Amino acid sequence: MAKLLEGKLIADQLKNIIKSKVLASSRRLKLSSIQVGVNPASDVYIKSQKKNAELLGIEYDAHTLEKETSEERLIEYIQKLNDDASVSGIIVQMPLPLHMDYKKISQYIKPEKDVEGMHPVNMGKIIFGKARILPCTAAAVMELLNSIGIHYSGKEAVIVGHSEIVGKPLALTLLDKLATVTVCHIGTSKAGKLEEHVRRADILIVAVGRAGLIKGDWVKEKAVVIDVGINRVGDKIVGDVEFEEAEKRASFITPVPGGVGPLTVTMLMRNLVEAAGI
Ligand code: NAD
Repeated sequence: MAKLLEGKLIADQLKNIIKSKVLASSRRLKLSSIQVGVNPASDVYIKSQKKNAELLGIEYDAHTLEKETSEERLIEYIQKLNDDASVSGIIVQMPLPLHMDYKKISQYIKPEKDVEGMHPVNMGKIIFGKARILPCTAAAVMELLNSIGIHYSGKEAVIVGHSEIVGKPLALTLLDKLATVTVCHIGTSKAGKLEEHVRRADILIVAVGRAGLIKGDWVKEKAVVIDVGINRVGDKIVGDVEFEEAEKRASFITPVPGGVGPLTVTMLMRNLVEAAGI
């Protein structure tokens, strides 16, 4: 039976480290959030970010722009925060209204204030193995893996999902640690090859958003399974991996909820501290 990899325990330890760094620094840190329009999902994230920031002694400054704001106006707003020396980090909340392109917008946040690690400069540093900032979800996955002292070299790491926030940065990070990395996605499933790749995985990371996509009996004995997926099924939240069967085979597995999720906002705070260089 697998041991559970729970994000909250690691998040609590990291928060203590972050808090002591913030307290020891003479610099006052401020995280500025920009939300465009009102959205119940981002309201929940904003509340959690604010609560976490304040617990760590970081000022949280929330800005809300009208839903009809143009991309140009949002970019001007970001540039104003870029130029404001009292602002240490900027986060643009998702989702943005349909007339806005997040990939374009994220390029206007100064790399030194890009606490989500989405600026091409920060993405580029991952390729060179020099990243101090990873996108928060990818960073949360690495914290979970590192917490169990995995020796990565030569391990078969299979990542299902190739998004910019999870699959791609993780693939590069694990490659740098000399794991043998396979990235699967919709094309892999369409070709009927998902199962054969998953069965090889010593480290299996799944970030798709489809409940039960990964059958529990595909999981290799003693594999480490990180399930990033979040799916609402009836009144329950579940991941992408069939948990009960996978738990019998894996050595470690993340529960959903309770695995990756509780760590992501802590990673945002750590990115802020890293970006500020304290
Ligand atoms: P995304 O939605 O940008 O991309 C989905 C990926 O899944 C793509 O690579 C796509 O090719 C792949 N895919 C889709 N159907 C597939 C199939 N049938 N077989 C194989 N691959 C398939 O991904 P994302 O933004 O990284 O989000 C993925 C999941 O992770 C979602 O459930 C999201 O809610 C969750 N998520 C969780 C956290 C957290 O804190 N726990 C953070 C971010 C995202």
